Parts: sequence; C-alpha cells; structure tokens
Amino acid sequence: MRHIAIIGSGPAGYYTAEALAKAMGNEVRVDIIDRLPVPYGLIRFGVAPDHQSIKAVSRRYEGVALSDNVRFVGNVTVGKDVSIPELQQLYDAVVVATGAPLDRPVDIPGAELSGVVGSAAFVGWYNGHPDFADLAPPLDGTSAAIIGNGNVALDVARILSKTRAEFEASDIVGHALAALEDSAIRHVTVLGRRGPHQIAMTPKELGELGHLERAFPRVDPLDLPPQADDALLEPGMRKSVTHLRAFAAHPVAKPVTIDFDFFAMPIAVLPSETDPARAGRLIVERTRLDEQLRSVATGEQYEIEASLIVSCIGYETPPIDGVPYEHGRGRFANIDGRILPGLYCVGWARRGPTGTIGTNRPDGYEVAEQVVADIADGKARDGREGLDRLLAERDVEVVTFRDWQRIEAAEIANARTGAPREKFTDIEAMLAALRPSG
Ligand SMILES: Cc1cc2nc3c(=O)[nH]c(=O)nc-3n(C[C@H](O)[C@H](O)[C@H](O)COP(=O)(O)OP(=O)(O)OC[C@H]3O[C@@H](n4cnc5c(N)ncnc54)[C@H](O)[C@@H]3O)c2cc1C
Repeated sequence: MRHIAIIGSGPAGYYTAEALAKAMGNEVRVDIIDRLPVPYGLIRFGVAPDHQSIKAVSRRYEGVALSDNVRFVGNVTVGKDVSIPELQQLYDAVVVATGAPLDRPVDIPGAELSGVVGSAAFVGWYNGHPDFADLAPPLDGTSAAIIGNGNVALDVARILSKTRAEFEASDIVGHALAALEDSAIRHVTVLGRRGPHQIAMTPKELGELGHLERAFPRVDPLDLPPQADDALLEPGMRKSVTHLRAFAAHPVAKPVTIDFDFFAMPIAVLPSETDPARAGRLIVERTRLDEQLRSVATGEQYEIEASLIVSCIGYETPPIDGVPYEHGRGRFANIDGRILPGLYCVGWARRGPTGTIGTNRPDGYEVAEQVVADIADGKARDGREGLDRLLAERDVEVVTFRDWQRIEAAEIANARTGAPREKFTDIEAMLAALRPSG
C-alpha cells in the first residue's frame, strides 16, 4: 500500500487525486488535507457567485472524494497543525496544491489607504471566505476603479454593477448582497496598462457586460487598433475584441457605467478630501506600446475619482516551512512539479496564478504520473493512521467529507428564495453546523 498526502482541495488537488486513484487503484490511499472545513478552493471562494454552471465542476470532484481510497481531511492547516517534514515521514509522497491565495501588492504611493483592496480579499468577501468576511469594502462613494485587464477584473466590475434581482440564482453571501444593494457606486473604471489587443479577458465574460440590467460598458473608439489587425489575433481573442468594438460602436444609456480605460497606468492613490485615511482619487499616467508591445509611460497624467480601488493584478503562493520557494515568481521552486524527492506541487502553487480550472487537470495528471513512477519501491509508511494519531494528540477537530456534506445541507436549508445556498462565512459556524443542536 502506498500513502499520498495532497495539501489543498482545489481543482489541482482533486485532479491529482483522481489521477492517482485511476493509476494505482486499490494500492493507494490519498488524503486531501485542507485548512478550511469546506473543500474546492477557488471553486467555492473565487469563481463568481453568478457563474453557477462553472461551480458545478465540483460535482466531479465529489465523485473522487467519495471513492474508497481518497479522503478529505478538512480544518487542518499544513505549516501549523502538521508540518511538511511530519507529512514526509508519514506518506510516500506529499503534493502541495495550496494555490496562490495572496494578492500581489499594488506598489504605488497611497496603496495603504482604506478603500484600496486586492481582488483576493474583495472576491473572498462576496464569496464568503472566512479570511475576508469582515472586509466591509467602502461602497458609499459613487466611483470605483479596478486595476487589471483579466477575467477577475471583469468579475469584480460585473458584481459591483448588478442589481439584487440579477443575483437571484447565485450563491453570493448575504452580507455582500445587502451591501451591494445599498451601494452608491455608479461609475466603474477598468484600467489596463496596455490596449484592447493585449487584454486577458475571455469572450463569454466580456460579452456578459453587454447584457446587464442597469449597467453598460463604454470603450473609447480611439483606443481600438485598426479593425484589419484583428485578423492576426487567435480566434478567442478576436471574439473578445469584437465585443469591445461593439461596446465602442453602440453605447447605451443606463444608470451605471463601466468604462474601459486602456493605456492607463495607476501611479498613486490620493486621500479623500473629507477623510485623509480613505482613498479618494487615483492618479493615472497615459501609456503607449513600444515595439515589443510593452507599455511605456508618456508623462501625461490625469486623475479619476475612486473611493474603492480593487487591484486585480495577480496572486502569490504563501511560502510553507520546509518547501523551497521561488520568490520572484511567487510559487514553489519546482521542475515539472518536482520540488524535492517525495515532494511535489501542482496547480497555481506550481505554475503561478495562470490558467483556468481545466488547466489544472493535465497539470495534476502529469505530476501524478511522476509520483507513481517515483514511489514504486517505497518503504512501509503509517499514512492516514499516523496522521489521525498526530492530529488527535494535538486536539485538531478534523472535518471529513461526510461532515462537509452536512455543512452543505445546512447551507442549502438556509438559502434565500431562488439561491442555491447561504454560505457560512466563518469556521466556527461551519463547525457548529456539525454539532447536535440544543
Ligand atoms: C477570482 C477568480 C475567479 C476565477 N474564475 C474562474 C472561472 O470562472 N473559470 C475558470 O475556469 N477558472 C477560474 N479561476 C481560476 C481557477 O479558480 C484556478 O485555476 C484554480 O482554482 C486553481 O486551483 P488550485 O487547486 O491550484 O488552487 P485553489 O483553488 O486556490 O485551491 C487551493 C486550496 O489549498 C488550500 N490551502 C492553502 N494553504 C493551505 C495550507 N497551508 N494547508 C492546507 N490547505 C491549504 C486552500 O484552502 C484551497 O482550498 C478563477 C480564479 C480567481 C482567482
């Protein structure tokens, strides 16, 4: 029998477990350890609450979780409740699948002002991540700025612009729904350092902005390159740019505007005139593209009003003691997923924060193949029995997959009309749902 620990129950963790179970059948026991009592990582806490069909991929992981040789070990933080060297003693292989949950900092003066938030925090807030449930982003000003030209920026712009009715079939958490309903924000500016041909936005997500109830997107036609140049783009990108052209050609009047500000580099946040601790305006510098399509500052500056500034400029993996780390790239140091003998990484912890849910499947399968080859001649290990013993000694309250199903059942029972669930937003409430009531 071989024993494998996977740290992290997001897509990368589950695809790796699926691959290991397929390759080794009854010869393997896989433990998927997560710091939270609930599984699925960014499927639950990143993917937008109004994109339920994407979140449905978790049903596939449920099949893996319920197989005899894979188990979920929730509410256990590696690096705190158990260390990497301890796991290496207990298991034939340890696979780090901890994602990239930290915001890359916006490195400009004034970024410390209240109202400047990273997308991990903002997205975590509306998705009910226990780390960010108390964020309370300021929504009392009329203008917000979003820094970044990827899909996360689009998610944030859309969530800030939707009406309560548009969230009906979503699992947005109650505190965010109530705050957004009272929001005064009427102008959202999405800033990108480069132009429409350099965006990292996919057509489906961009197209959605054209169908919002009370908001409409605006693009300055002068920012668009000559239409003939679109022929050089790959088909998905060409579709995205076609959406931008449509937004530029057919502006619609609705109460909320989403302005795409291309060739725009934020250089400082200025405090609000009424409260020096809060953000009030953003100083932006106009850019142009050089021959290598890099953005170059032009010296021309302007200001935009913004009491909420959400930076969507990428993420980093937090280091874990005992795991070599590549600081410049914000991920674990690895060659094709191998970190050290017996220690591997997959998903965003391996590649950095790029790629969709589906990208993690070939990634997990590839690393699983290496694990299977490497552990062919292993020695006998304690595996899950050893972990259970250690966690019991340390009084760690472990949450199993069956427990998670009970938490989920309580969330479904608490759902508002039309919504799939009302998520618990703190760990204590999740654990309380497992205790007999009264
Ligand atoms: C805002 C946002 C929206 C997105 N929307 C989409 C979308 O619509 N469609 C799409 O295809 N992709 C989307 N993605 C990308 C997708 O979510 C990622 O590709 C995927 O989640 C990465 O998987 P992962 O398993 O590497 O990391 P994660 O999903 O982040 O999972 C990491 C897991 O590790 C756990 N963990 C972390 N540290 C520890 C520790 N020390 N001990 C134990 N457990 C730990 C975490 O709790 C988490 O469960 C989105 C990403 C973001 C940020």
